[in-house]
Amino acid sequence: MNTKTTIIGAALAAMLPLTASAVDIPQHFSQEAKAKLADSIQLAPTEHQLNIVYFHGNDVEPAKDYERRLSELFVYLQQFYAREMSRNGFGPRSFGLSMLPNGNVDIITIQGSLPHKEYPYSGGHGKVQREVAAYFAAHPEKRRSHHTLILMPTWHDAEYSDANPGGVPFYGVGQTCYALDYADFDLRHLGQDTPQGHLLTKWFGGMAHELGHGLNLPHNNGTAQEMKELGTPLMGAGNYTFGMRPTYLTKATCRILDRSETFAPVGDNTAFYASNSPVTVENPQLKMKDGALVLRFRADGNFKHVNAYIQDAPFAVNQDYEKVAFTDVKRKNGECLLRIPLDAIAALDGAKELRGEKAQKGVGGIDLVFVQLDGTRYTCRVTFNWADITAKGTPFIEVKSFKGC
Ligand code: ZN
Repeated sequence: MNTKTTIIGAALAAMLPLTASAVDIPQHFSQEAKAKLADSIQLAPTEHQLNIVYFHGNDVEPAKDYERRLSELFVYLQQFYAREMSRNGFGPRSFGLSMLPNGNVDIITIQGSLPHKEYPYSGGHGKVQREVAAYFAAHPEKRRSHHTLILMPTWHDAEYSDANPGGVPFYGVGQTCYALDYADFDLRHLGQDTPQGHLLTKWFGGMAHELGHGLNLPHNNGTAQEMKELGTPLMGAGNYTFGMRPTYLTKATCRILDRSETFAPVGDNTAFYASNSPVTVENPQLKMKDGALVLRFRADGNFKHVNAYIQDAPFAVNQDYEKVAFTDVKRKNGECLLRIPLDAIAALDGAKELRGEKAQKGVGGIDLVFVQLDGTRYTCRVTFNWADITAKGTPFIEVKSFKGC
């Protein structure tokens, strides 16, 4: 973490009322966790909280000491998101967590109706989801938002163990996401150059990234300059660097989180994800000018933020980690303009082609993502041949709009 972030965080924390004392760290947290959380910033309280579910088969138990271990990890992760929101100008805001009086996170533990092997990585989601939905139907007061993170303990068999966790679902499905638990899933190992340290980066970084999807985030990379300065975006390949090397949230990511339900400050009574009035994009035009791509378009509809993501084909999920995020769309009376300097997207094959370093004739695309006040996202995707981009204009292969991002 850099000093500048801490100072900004501290300054913002100082502006909030009732923050005379430092953040309380529960006594029963490990010494290592206390040390890692010592410079915690005071968070803005939220109207809604992330649902955290621990789901296990009827023939296995949760991994040892899971309530303390997971509480430490979630509090740390909440701080990471808050520091990045602060650094990007959104204040010390993070996903809300429901806390118990002892300082642990309120984890909903559900024993499934079936043995653990009935809930595998491939195809296990549907069964888990149905049982979690049944739990929330019976305990509606426990469902604190649309967003749910489900943890499941690793299998122990010929393939999987605490040293090689797996077997269970680990991905995002809409606003539900999965992570896994194992004996050494413990903040004390974070950043350590040990087998447990590397394993923790993989699975804690993985959880941090999957949670991002569950909080509405698409993949994205930073510009070349930004990554030199800040490291790897969590929603790019940051799941492999988290805790070991500098990892950050892009401003585009923070803009989506700004209108994500569990980040809404106390008193924000927005009915999240309720709207159904699309943003429409008209007359998009793409040109090359002074070493930059210049995209002009007209956008009609209600939205708070617009992000743009540029990438090489294909556009399938999980083949889009490299798409570079931009937020500086200039808006005036519905007319919008975005400038994408080629040196900011130097890593894309298309940029190499435009600079004459690569002969390959590839397809590129720009996603315009509109974030509405209630958190709903609409995307307009334009695709083109990189080779067709000229100072006069570019024919699009396709212009396609869809809900989500
Ligand atoms: Zn992902």
